[in-house]
Amino acid sequence: MKRNGVLVAGSANIDLVVKTERFPKEGETVFGGSFGMFPGGKGANQAVACAKLGGRTFFVGKMGRDIFRDTLMASMRRNGVDLRYLSFDGDESTGIGLITLDHSGQNEIVVVSGSNMKLLPIDINRARQVFSRVNIVLLQLEVPLPTVARAAALAKSSGALVILNPAPAKKLPASMFRAVDIITPNETEAELLTGVRVRSTESAARAGRKLLNAGVGTVIMTLGAKGAMLVSPDGVRRFPAPRVKAVDTTAAGDAFNGALAFAIASGRRFDEAIPFANSVAAFSVTRMGAQSSMPGPRELRTFLKSQLPRQSGTNQ
Ligand code: ADP
Repeated sequence: MKRNGVLVAGSANIDLVVKTERFPKEGETVFGGSFGMFPGGKGANQAVACAKLGGRTFFVGKMGRDIFRDTLMASMRRNGVDLRYLSFDGDESTGIGLITLDHSGQNEIVVVSGSNMKLLPIDINRARQVFSRVNIVLLQLEVPLPTVARAAALAKSSGALVILNPAPAKKLPASMFRAVDIITPNETEAELLTGVRVRSTESAARAGRKLLNAGVGTVIMTLGAKGAMLVSPDGVRRFPAPRVKAVDTTAAGDAFNGALAFAIASGRRFDEAIPFANSVAAFSVTRMGAQSSMPGPRELRTFLKSQLPRQSGTNQ
């Protein structure tokens, strides 16, 4: 059977967003202006980014048995994510982000990981079959580390490539680096993982080389509006992002990772896959929201037509 697909093992959250003129003081009640419920979580966002582009995408995750699960599942299904390996925990709530925004756009956030922290190595084992049906396994750090390690190991033994987006930033054991084919930190995450202060192209490359020395196959560092940098044993190459008017950078990294996984799963090499991921992520920052900001193929084509000149990579 031809292997062409992406498995995302990771988190799914519902963001409950309240807008208010000002934050309440301790013990105070204020009336808010509006309320919205938005599907999120790095794993779910990356799976949706990949599926919306047309990639065969499986999601292995854990949700509670509550209304938030229903909302999340509906959104992920609608966007084409295969949920047959999703499992449930009756004792925990689905992952929740409680977000309050004030008039100036400042936020206060409480995250309840809930069922995401109940995604265990045994759940990965139960999804064993699907590892041999995909060529990419895409992972993040919003579920327990032993679960991430198990998924990476199973990917390796099944012959799939492992992409680790090491977010949110967290120190990793040495064994994890050796299990990863492609690591995709942003600048902050690269700094935490390597101890190198990433302030310039040169320091980013230095951090990248440190990750290679730790045992990672390839480093693709995202650099916000500046795009991304590829650090591999063959050298360092920068890929500028399309210039856009940023409206909401939430989930830019998720768009990048989902698109990168999609492109590599479809057989594209890094010099095509990275500009593609930059374009998808740049598109996403021009739209509000997380999963709702990811483009489908048609939206992306229209966007690319208006962006043609700045696409090629530069060697260093
Ligand atoms: P994260 O969202 O994880 O912090 P980055 O800020 O590095 O990650 O952004 C991820 C990717 O999103 C970048 O590599 C780039 O492709 C795209 N991106 C982010 N911000 C912008 C921006 N202002 N303009 C264009 N592209 C952007």
